[in-house]
Amino acid sequence: MSKGKSKSKSKSVLHCECGGALRPAKAAKFDFSPLADGLQVTLQNVPILRCGRCGEETLDGAIIDGTLNSLARSLATTDAKLGGIELRFLRKHLLLTQQELAIDIGCDRVTVADWERDAQPISEQHAMRLRALVLGGKDLQNDHEKFDAALQAAFAAAREIQPQAGQILSNAVALLSKAASPPPRKAPRPTVRHVVDGDKLDVKVG
Ligand SMILES: [Zn+2]
Repeated sequence: MSKGKSKSKSKSVLHCECGGALRPAKAAKFDFSPLADGLQVTLQNVPILRCGRCGEETLDGAIIDGTLNSLARSLATTDAKLGGIELRFLRKHLLLTQQELAIDIGCDRVTVADWERDAQPISEQHAMRLRALVLGGKDLQNDHEKFDAALQAAFAAAREIQPQAGQILSNAVALLSKAASPPPRKAPRPTVRHVVDGDKLDVKVG
C-alpha cells in the first residue's frame, strides 16, 4: 500500500564542466557558428542540454552531426554560387585536403586555394562535381546499390561535359570508403548567415 518513491536513476545524467546536471530543454535560438567551421549558423527550435547550475547550453552530438550533414546537403543542393567559406566547409566536411579535393574534382591545389579565399570563383563544372561528392559520399554510403545507381547517373552527366569522368568516378569511390562521420571543428569566421530549423532535423536525441 505504501508507494515506494521510485528513484528515476535509470538514465545516466550528463554533467556540465561546473558539476551541474545537464537537463534537456528546447532553445528558440542557438548560435551554432563555433561548430560550423566558418559558416555563420543559427539553429531554431532545437533540443539542447542546459546546465541547472550555470545555465551553459550545449548540444547533443547527434544534433551537431545532423546539423553539419543538413548544412552540407543544403549547400550541395542550392542553386546559389558557392563562396570560399562554403567551399572550405564542404571540403572539410568531406575530410579532404585541398590537394585531395583537387584530384577528386580534376583541378590543381592552387585553384582550390584560390576558390577558398575568393580570389576566383569556382566553375560550374567543378561545383557540380563537388556537389556530387557531397551528396553521394554522405547520403548513400550505407546503400551501395543506391550509391552505384546515383553515381552512374551523376557521372553519365559528368561525362558529357568532361571526358575523364572515369578518373573522377574512381576518386569518388575511394572517397566513399573514407567518408566516415566528420568530427565537429572550431574555426569561426564571418559569412552569410544560415538558419537551420531544429524541427526539421532528422535526428533523435537519446
Ligand atoms: Zn554548468
